[in-house]
Amino acid sequence: MQSIYLDNNATTCLDSRVAESFCAALKIWGNPASMHSYGRAARHALLEAKEKISQLLGVAAEELLFTSSATEAINTVLRGLFYQTSAAEIITTTTEHAAVYETIHDLADKGHCKAIVLPVESHNGTLDPQAVAAAITPQTRLVAVMAANNETGVKHDVLAIAAIAERYGVPLLVDAVAAFGKEPLPQPLPRAIAALCLSGHKIHGLKGAAVAVVRKTLCLQPLITGGGQQAARRAGTEDVAAVVALAKAIELALEALPTGQEQMRAMRDYFEEQIVRRLPYVQINGGNGPRLVNTSNLAFHGIDGESLLIALDAHGVMASLGSACSSGAIEPSRTLLAMGLPMAVARSSLRFSLSRMTTMAEIESAIAIICRCCSLQRL
Ligand code: PLP
Repeated sequence: MQSIYLDNNATTCLDSRVAESFCAALKIWGNPASMHSYGRAARHALLEAKEKISQLLGVAAEELLFTSSATEAINTVLRGLFYQTSAAEIITTTTEHAAVYETIHDLADKGHCKAIVLPVESHNGTLDPQAVAAAITPQTRLVAVMAANNETGVKHDVLAIAAIAERYGVPLLVDAVAAFGKEPLPQPLPRAIAALCLSGHKIHGLKGAAVAVVRKTLCLQPLITGGGQQAARRAGTEDVAAVVALAKAIELALEALPTGQEQMRAMRDYFEEQIVRRLPYVQINGGNGPRLVNTSNLAFHGIDGESLLIALDAHGVMASLGSACSSGAIEPSRTLLAMGLPMAVARSSLRFSLSRMTTMAEIESAIAIICRCCSLQRL
């Protein structure tokens, strides 16, 4: 049976060129803080990779902070900023990834901040930048929004939000995890974007390797203290090979972007067009909003999403439900509910996410399998 992986917003396969750069870097095993030649070699590899990422992202090398995941990067910014505050306010949205959403709620529950959670537009899932402007008060310490939603692909107008943040002098945290590699980063990155997070495993890189751009203006209390590595913002011996591999993954993602973006768009559009034509009860969630080119969130009216997911998996097609709860009970997607979708529609929805490695032959096969499974499920 053919395996068709359409869950690339969850994670992506490792690009063999990233794996090669990682394996080569594993041989440079010295501690980058050591004075001797092995240490110097490790430091050199680390600085070289850091310099490469800084050039690729158009930010200063000192603004880069390497972490084990984007979740850690986001926690580093949010907790580092709101560590000692109480009256400060943070503006975010109802459709953020749990890394942002849960962390902000945890900080608010513990009395470190007041969370202003803005609703998204129900017709397309976007955030109105004017709603951000209206929510800013003298107590606002940060605006935290995602560049694009990992479940629906719906994009927020980050440049407009950054302009508002700039106007009011409020720093902006951008969760660019889902968008990076599918959309070009704004160049130059607006100064109001005080922090931005990326994750290696979403761009055919390694799990355990992520980076935050943190501007010098953003004063963070470190989450992890110790030996003072990374300018004392995250102590712990740097994982040189992981940073080298991350640099390679970012380089390849940006190199592939112009053609990859168009290929993914063409495949995603064809996929949706065929599914909607053959299964008229299918609705594209967020379909009338600006969306990433790789994400298709479909509501299969009258079909239970979980059952369909299992049936597809049995036929080799790997997709995803909105969200799965760690307790084992499947919760309907918070993002879809926040977009105003009824519970039943949210429960009938599946996400299909492509990558630059997805082929048209896979899309053709997936369409046929989805149509077959749906016809059986709607008996
Ligand atoms: N933000 C978004 C939009 C994501 O999609 C994810 C992962 O799914 C994260 C943050 C967290 O990334 P990581 O898996 O590196 O912790």
